[in-house]
Amino acid sequence: MEQLITIRTFTYPHEIYVIRGKLESEGIRTFLKDEMTVQVHNFYSNAVGGVKLQVFAEDADKALDILDSVKEIPQEVIVLSKKEFENSTSCPFCHSGNISRMRKSNWLTLIPYLIVGFIFPVYRSFYICFECGKRWKIKK
Ligand SMILES: [Zn+2]
Repeated sequence: MEQLITIRTFTYPHEIYVIRGKLESEGIRTFLKDEMTVQVHNFYSNAVGGVKLQVFAEDADKALDILDSVKEIPQEVIVLSKKEFENSTSCPFCHSGNISRMRKSNWLTLIPYLIVGFIFPVYRSFYICFECGKRWKIKK
């Protein structure tokens, strides 16, 4: 009997899909544990320890190598205080001016995310840097 090994856990299922797609494309079968629980009740994600991405024990080494090689797109929106982010025209992380303010209500800005297949977390508005990919919002 084959043993399943958890190679990574995620808070929300949408974070998994890109990585899972990559593993599957490399011929590794993946399994999600607790996916349904978390999808139905997001609040339970922490309670059940997140969604677990699992592979067969024999694939674990290869899967971990692939995970290491994948440059992940930062998904987190970092919350900054107003003090930390006084200048709203450049990225606080790499100081690039190539940033944009995103709003949930503006569907045009969401289209790139829909194409890549992310279910984007609901934030009223946040900033994104197109240079380093970081996202942040300002604490009120
Ligand atoms: Zn940046």
